[in-house]
Amino acid sequence: MSAPSIDGQFTWNVSGLLADGVGADRTYDISGATIELPDELELAGPISGRVRLKRTNRGILAEARLTTTLAGECARCLRPLTTPIDVRLEEEYLPSIDFQTGRPVDIDAEPEALRLSDHHELDLEPSVRDAILLAEPIAPLDRPDCPGLCAVCGLPLDEGEHDHPDDEIDPRLEALRAFRPD
Ligand SMILES: [Zn+2]
Ligand SMILES: [Zn+2]
Repeated sequence: MSAPSIDGQFTWNVSGLLADGVGADRTYDISGATIELPDELELAGPISGRVRLKRTNRGILAEARLTTTLAGECARCLRPLTTPIDVRLEEEYLPSIDFQTGRPVDIDAEPEALRLSDHHELDLEPSVRDAILLAEPIAPLDRPDCPGLCAVCGLPLDEGEHDHPDDEIDPRLEALRAFRPD
């Protein structure tokens, strides 16, 4: 079964799922979603895919399979490029408030656990953001054999002529050349 998310692109109220009991699940289609990224990172396209929320004996297991594209630049020639990103994540969220009694749960017992909000909302956005950051390529290339930039003129080596006459060569390179032992 698919249904739109209620509160936000990656936020769901899971009260119903908590009430349904262990093993119950809901599937949500994600399309046209977006997310803020830190460090000058930028999405080049929307996030799409599917999120499945499943009631476990302790809380809610979120499984997501998402795709998007990241904007970036070629590590060699600095031309803009986009990198397809494929994200899979699986995280269990534990309640902050006991669903049966309405009493606060002892969160300090598991300080590292991901938590549902006091209103039984699951916010998957931080996990989605982390997963996208992890999937970011370290040194993307616009093509595998990108020759990079010309050391003399600074333009991409696969554009134009780079058979530079000597008088165009950077004087610093010329000075190095003069040190050759021959
Ligand atoms: Zn390149
Ligand atoms: Zn050149």
